[in-house]
Amino acid sequence: MVRALPIPLAAPLPAPLLSLLATYRLLVNEVIREALSTGQTSLGKLSRFARTRAFVHQLTGTHAITASTVALSILKSHRKRLRHGLPCRAPYVRRAFLRADDASFHVDPIPQRIRVSLRSGVWSSFPIVVSEYHRKVLATPGLRIKQLHLTPDRVVLLYEKPAPTPYAPTALLALDTNERSLDGVCVTPSGTRAAVLKFPEIAVIQQRHVTRRRRLARRKAHDRRVGRRLLRSEGRREHDRVTSRLHVLTKRLVEVARKHRAALALEDFTKVAARRATRRAKSLGTSRPFARGRAGSGIRSKPLRRRLSSWPRAELHRQLAYKAAERGVPVVWVDPYRTSVTCPKCGVYNGPRSRMGPTFECVACGWRLDRQLNAGANVGRIALRETAELGGLKLDLDALSDDAVRPRYPFQGLGRARAERKEREGIVTTARRVRRVST
Ligand SMILES: [Zn+2]
Repeated sequence: MVRALPIPLAAPLPAPLLSLLATYRLLVNEVIREALSTGQTSLGKLSRFARTRAFVHQLTGTHAITASTVALSILKSHRKRLRHGLPCRAPYVRRAFLRADDASFHVDPIPQRIRVSLRSGVWSSFPIVVSEYHRKVLATPGLRIKQLHLTPDRVVLLYEKPAPTPYAPTALLALDTNERSLDGVCVTPSGTRAAVLKFPEIAVIQQRHVTRRRRLARRKAHDRRVGRRLLRSEGRREHDRVTSRLHVLTKRLVEVARKHRAALALEDFTKVAARRATRRAKSLGTSRPFARGRAGSGIRSKPLRRRLSSWPRAELHRQLAYKAAERGVPVVWVDPYRTSVTCPKCGVYNGPRSRMGPTFECVACGWRLDRQLNAGANVGRIALRETAELGGLKLDLDALSDDAVRPRYPFQGLGRARAERKEREGIVTTARRVRRVST
């Protein structure tokens, strides 16, 4: 897995490196122009062009190859915008930067410097601040430094480290992703329990920032330059507040799953997007994979569409995925198709309108459950069906429908639930009997 490690600069970059960054930007723009004028999209041909230009600018050939890769990725998103019919101009890089691969730079943690190759045999170096944390990361066994991303005020190292092999799970934690919570089931050999992780504050923060940005935009309507700057910093503040909360949430969840040797089951939203695109292409009678038009824009109101598109579920899943891979927690990705409108008990599809209301009620068998928990139960059912390693586990739906069940944090009170059921069934454990006698 590839991770990023930002490193603070100890002093401003020296002049030769600043000029390297400026030349590199020039080179990327030249490759972009060449590709646009010739319609070239192959890395091999563009790198050959970039090498001749790098020779003119007196740069190392390795910089030319990364410059072509950067140019190609910029052009790829440009072509995507064109395909979607979005307004766009020919791409042009304005900021000086450098992307160097591992052959053209060296990190020296002892004198705390990074050396970068300018041209054949000529190097320039700059001082960095190496903290205890950086030393720890760089000392990871099996670590490979891949790339250096450099701008005049930012240094980021990309490194690859081997991921541990996931353990064989003995439990399952299946969760349905909702706007203010993750809801689902916790299946262990000793029983099934409803699980919920609430994060209502994220939606609240987003709403607060929306109103704040609106007010700012209104107040600064006469000065677009200042308005744009203020809005950007306001947006960044919102982003930071939301992601930091997500980090706390996902770290704790992955830790809990690891402690109980559970596999995580989550919905794979990429499948939804792919299905929607093909369905739309079919309805338009074209073979274009990306047809324009918002799904359900006629049904959903504008505030709802805004809320749904700013909902950070992709970020939540991204964090869960990489943290789970890092800690060796297996993740099962489940196709969420109809998980919120299907009965987990009898498997009957209840039609699109059954998504409404706080409770899911099956038209065929009368099964009732909280709508969000029900979707989580379906995710669990599919994960158990599709994963052979989870063969020993059984989803006990009746344990969920018990009126006494209040969803808790995953794995909390699992033992207690068993004790309660035993007590109901007339099996009283000795400890309880003793206590009863004494009172
Ligand atoms: Zn049913």
